[in-house]
Amino acid sequence: VTAADDPVAFGQRHVTKGIGRLTEAVMTKGEGSYVHFHDGRRLLDFTCGIGVTNLGHCHPKVSKAAADQCMELVHCQCNISFHDSTIRLIEKLIPVMPDPTLDSFYFWNSGSEATEAAVKMARVITGKQNIICMQGGYHGRTYGAMALTRSKTSYSEGFFPLMPGVFSTPFPFWHQLGVVPNTSEEQLVRSTLYQLDLLLKQQTAPCDTAAIIIEPVLGEGGYVSAPSAFLKGLRDVCDEHGILLIIDEVQSGFGRTGKMFNVEYSRVRPDIMVMAKGLANGFPLSCIVSRKELTDKLKPGSMGGTYAGNVVSCAAAAAVVDAFQEENILDNVNARSKELLGALKELQTCPEVGGNIVDVRGQGLMVAVEFASPSYPAQDPVLNRSAPNNLASRVAKRCVEKGMLILTASVYEVIRFIPPLNVTREDLRKGCEVFSEAVKEIIR
Ligand code: PMP
Repeated sequence: VTAADDPVAFGQRHVTKGIGRLTEAVMTKGEGSYVHFHDGRRLLDFTCGIGVTNLGHCHPKVSKAAADQCMELVHCQCNISFHDSTIRLIEKLIPVMPDPTLDSFYFWNSGSEATEAAVKMARVITGKQNIICMQGGYHGRTYGAMALTRSKTSYSEGFFPLMPGVFSTPFPFWHQLGVVPNTSEEQLVRSTLYQLDLLLKQQTAPCDTAAIIIEPVLGEGGYVSAPSAFLKGLRDVCDEHGILLIIDEVQSGFGRTGKMFNVEYSRVRPDIMVMAKGLANGFPLSCIVSRKELTDKLKPGSMGGTYAGNVVSCAAAAAVVDAFQEENILDNVNARSKELLGALKELQTCPEVGGNIVDVRGQGLMVAVEFASPSYPAQDPVLNRSAPNNLASRVAKRCVEKGMLILTASVYEVIRFIPPLNVTREDLRKGCEVFSEAVKEIIR
């Protein structure tokens, strides 16, 4: 088979089996909220390539900034010299940081590399080794990041042993405590902070613990926002014990939840914050920001990498930051968020859906729908081991057939909505319609 005759069959034969896909098709073009496939189909994209093309595909200003940069300088290795595109990007990032003390930047290519760099930094800065991560958390697939990832065993299955010195503690999400969905936030926060206290008394002493890493909104783990009281509780524990708080805003950052960064809701100050995905709207770039007084403890030469902080990606990211201001992106996120949550809550109470949707949740345009499943122990007082119903993946597949890309998340029956942050009211309405029809067809 040749690529020209049948590109799908060619891909299936020659792309490693280790990569799973939502759909067996070849994407050829993207424009705004839509993508095109080789077979002529045009689909609404409510995945944004997993939260990356937040300003839509091929945003003209971002693409132009990258194209212009390509004609000037494409590669400047960060261990050789500064380059002006990075310097200009940092100047634009400083005023949008969630805390004015975050003033020392380091760029990488991916979120995984960045979370690993954050761990390396935390170890050197504190002189301690152990890291506490969250059950249900996701920080990447490279070896160090994989050790911090606790959202699905399929990410680590067969790859043990992982990086040692990593401990996990429950995130305030009803599933993780085995309680019913309407358990109060106060109760969830109290229980999870208690578990953390026990972890520090029973498994990793504060004097051995370098950092706690958390996504302020669990991403791959099911789109669950950490209550402000939990984040504040973590901040207090970190302050009390000289532990660093690493906030992973790779998926929740850059406007996704209605503020530039999700920690702005709780006003909790990160010691280290990790960004990627929406930062450069599709160009590979990640960023670790911390305070100069902390990063001054790193030895020159201990950080860096061949492609770290690519010049073209930095130019694209600078255009992204400009576009947020020029195009009032956050206003659109908050307006469309209300419409999306409203439409999904209406669907939840619709008689045809008949209790199959147990939760509609989210902030900004990081929104999830969770379906009921007979395999959830918390829904039954006796441990329920019936087979999962796979409602979420069946609904996602039906949405693709009906013209919209949408993803599942977590080991629960969750669909996540990740539309572009500048999605129009009309396209959002269209996406909600496709989803409602798909849900009704699948549960009929
Ligand atoms: N952290 C979070 C919160 C993420 O959502 C992801 C990617 N889904 C990563 C880290 C890893 O990023 P990357 O895939 O770019 O390595």
